[in-house]
Amino acid sequence: MHINGMSVELSPFIPILEEGVTAALRALLDVPAHLPITWHDKRVSPWRMEITVGDLALQLHDPGSEPALFAGDRLAFAHRGAANPAVLRALVRRLRYADRDGVQIAALQTALRAWRPFAGMRDTDFRNVSATEAIVRVGFHCNQDCGFCWQGRDWPGPPRAMLEQWIDEMAAGGVRELMISGGEPTVYGELLDLVRRARAADLTPWLQTNAIRMGKPGFAAALAAAGVAGLTVSYHAGDSALSDLLTRAPGTHVRTEAGIRASLGAGMRLTLNCVVGRRNLAYLPATAERIVAEFLPLAEHGIAVSFSNPSEAHDPADGDPVPLDEVSGPLAAAVRILIEAGIPVQAVGSCGFPPCVLRDVPEMVVPLLLDRLAPEHFASRRKPDACAPCALYDACVGPRERDVRNFGSRGLVPFTERPQGRPSPLAFVPRFDDAPP
Ligand code: SF4
Repeated sequence: MHINGMSVELSPFIPILEEGVTAALRALLDVPAHLPITWHDKRVSPWRMEITVGDLALQLHDPGSEPALFAGDRLAFAHRGAANPAVLRALVRRLRYADRDGVQIAALQTALRAWRPFAGMRDTDFRNVSATEAIVRVGFHCNQDCGFCWQGRDWPGPPRAMLEQWIDEMAAGGVRELMISGGEPTVYGELLDLVRRARAADLTPWLQTNAIRMGKPGFAAALAAAGVAGLTVSYHAGDSALSDLLTRAPGTHVRTEAGIRASLGAGMRLTLNCVVGRRNLAYLPATAERIVAEFLPLAEHGIAVSFSNPSEAHDPADGDPVPLDEVSGPLAAAVRILIEAGIPVQAVGSCGFPPCVLRDVPEMVVPLLLDRLAPEHFASRRKPDACAPCALYDACVGPRERDVRNFGSRGLVPFTERPQGRPSPLAFVPRFDDAPP
């Protein structure tokens, strides 16, 4: 990725763990480098692993757990489908030796133990960089439990050394502002050290947080002193009972609001991020009014607000989907309240809604430069056929795939002409995840 004319190369993490397993398998089975090998760790206890070497389908498993062509003390071997008898005899000889020696089997099990906690995850779950954002996620534990969250609460975080390496690589590649996120980054015990590391690398750190911990005496000031310039705070409703219902964390809304006040008092810049779903939709205008009344007067550097259109929840049975035609009215009303108070608002973009949902607030209809966004932002988006005639087709990330699946084209209204008016200077939030085109 090119940032400010420089190239940002981020070291791989999970691919290295996967390569460790592949290398251990190659050594165990004596597979030459030119032969392709794939594997699938099917089950841990009793262990079973399926492997393809060229066109040969093999299986390794715990001895005694399944039928085997060879069973030793430490591992058993089977094959599926047709196989060359000479090749099978050579494999049995090889595995009999490995079973007696034990070293290569131990190396495979060590490589599997290192990789397994991260099975199914990608490096972009931990960090990402594009022309518009640089983010690291320190881990996925959280002191709330929002049903619409895309993350698994039990996902492991990356090692600290990896986080520090990515921070250094981003800094060397020209990144200037870094979003430190989670999970909830303030439950990460080494957060302050990581913030200092980012500052030492000449990055300006921001946090994505629910701000609960900012209410602890001295914590917001300590973060500011360590170098945190600002926060993006999850704030899904102005009403305490509704917010606690959405975050599935009773009593935390009042603590988030205390944290917001403490952070503003510590001189930090704040963006409040509201994830829009069925349950908080009708309350968006009231939430906007509360932000204007409660927090704007405290905001020495101003305050900004973003509205997010969530992707698939980690548990698809959770989430709070609502069709886009129902979103338009309350969202437009909330946006109007905020921009009339002088508050910058972001509601379209990589985390936001398609521009046509904001057509009643034309100054918010902002064409996007799609090649500035990280490719991962498009993974959960899909433009249905209804979008084809739209004049903004090539400048819109499109609706969430989840919304199209649930509600079809409801709320998608193609523009017949590309909007000609000037976007409001309040229509983009600086340091969020997009930039004005
Ligand atoms: S109609 Fe489709 S392409 Fe046009 S703004 Fe809406 S979502 Fe985007």
